[in-house]
Amino acid sequence: MSVLIFIDHSEGQVKKASLEALSYGAKIAEQLGTTAEGILLGTVTGDLSSLGKYGIKKIHQAAQDGLNNLDTQVYARIIAEVAGSTGAAVVIFSNNFSGKAIAPRVAARLKAGLVAGAVALPDTSNGFVVKKNVFSGKAFAHVAISSPIKVISLNPNSYPVSEGAGVAGIASLSVGAEAPKVKVVSATQASGDVVLTEAEIVVSGGRGLKGPENWGMVEELAKVLGAATACSRPVADSGWRPHHEHVGQTGIAIAPNLYIAIGISGAIQHLAGVNRSKVIVVVNKDPEAPFFKAADYGIVGDAFEVVPKMIEAVKKLKGIV
Ligand SMILES: Cc1cc2nc3c(=O)[nH]c(=O)nc-3n(C[C@H](O)[C@H](O)[C@H](O)COP(=O)(O)OP(=O)(O)OC[C@H]3O[C@@H](n4cnc5c(N)ncnc54)[C@H](O)[C@@H]3O)c2cc1C
Repeated sequence: MSVLIFIDHSEGQVKKASLEALSYGAKIAEQLGTTAEGILLGTVTGDLSSLGKYGIKKIHQAAQDGLNNLDTQVYARIIAEVAGSTGAAVVIFSNNFSGKAIAPRVAARLKAGLVAGAVALPDTSNGFVVKKNVFSGKAFAHVAISSPIKVISLNPNSYPVSEGAGVAGIASLSVGAEAPKVKVVSATQASGDVVLTEAEIVVSGGRGLKGPENWGMVEELAKVLGAATACSRPVADSGWRPHHEHVGQTGIAIAPNLYIAIGISGAIQHLAGVNRSKVIVVVNKDPEAPFFKAADYGIVGDAFEVVPKMIEAVKKLKGIV
């Protein structure tokens, strides 16, 4: 019996969401009195064994270059096989783009109960009960998994990365060649330095910014803060910003440590995608804007006056000239 954690990677780097999943899985293994192991398909740069510091004892790696591009069906088959052969009792994913696609397939193959979007460690005092978000983060549900094997996907930014001093052993996996059912023909990296779903800080703009020509200050604030940029839906629909920046009920759901909303009214559909943010700062010229009710800090003022001052203040704080 062990806990198996999927290690997701992109462009040779292990994703931060996977470091959270590793820390989370290692803690569950400790709770269950067993060991945690990782599974990585493809290759990453750097010393893989150093991931042992997140609490895993072993990493099963299939190092074929062909596995560097996500193929959810192939990945699910291999992960389910390894889970079966290692006797994994719990299989863990991040509930990110890859995990959302792979976890249900693995659960189906293993005939396992799945909780998608976990936000805390399971309660194992009486059964196996996992807390998760429901209704776009408006409520929590506690879900008991009764199947022998359990699959959990952990919401990004819900569990802290914790480092120790361990080193993981590497076990080479030999996986049978398989003609892919789908093939990535080309991939274009989305613009922006920081990936929105992984960002700890997000600076977001709404229709209050009047037009795409005014996004320079949003981008500059994001840059000095090391943040990703996002926007409300009408902004993306109007073509002011790319659709992959649209957050909300019909866009991406994010949970950064800090969400700065500029010229966004705070409609319920927008809040549904950002209300898991740890701290929300709202800049809006209308003191009655609904977003202020969800804000930790609010600035009532004209964005065109407030944001340049915020940029100046952050630069001063960080010693940027
Ligand atoms: C089924 C459905 C799904 C939807 N899904 C989403 C979703 O996923 N994401 C989403 O965002 N929306 C979604 N919407 C749309 C949502 O209801 C709102 O219409 C939208 O969020 C409003 O965007 P906004 O706040 O940018 O614009 P507005 O509502 O026009 O608000 C602009 C805000 O800017 C402020 N403002 C104006 N000028 C300034 C200034 N100079 N300085 C500071 N503040 C200023 C105004 O006071 C106002 O509060 C959805 C709607 C439906 C019906």
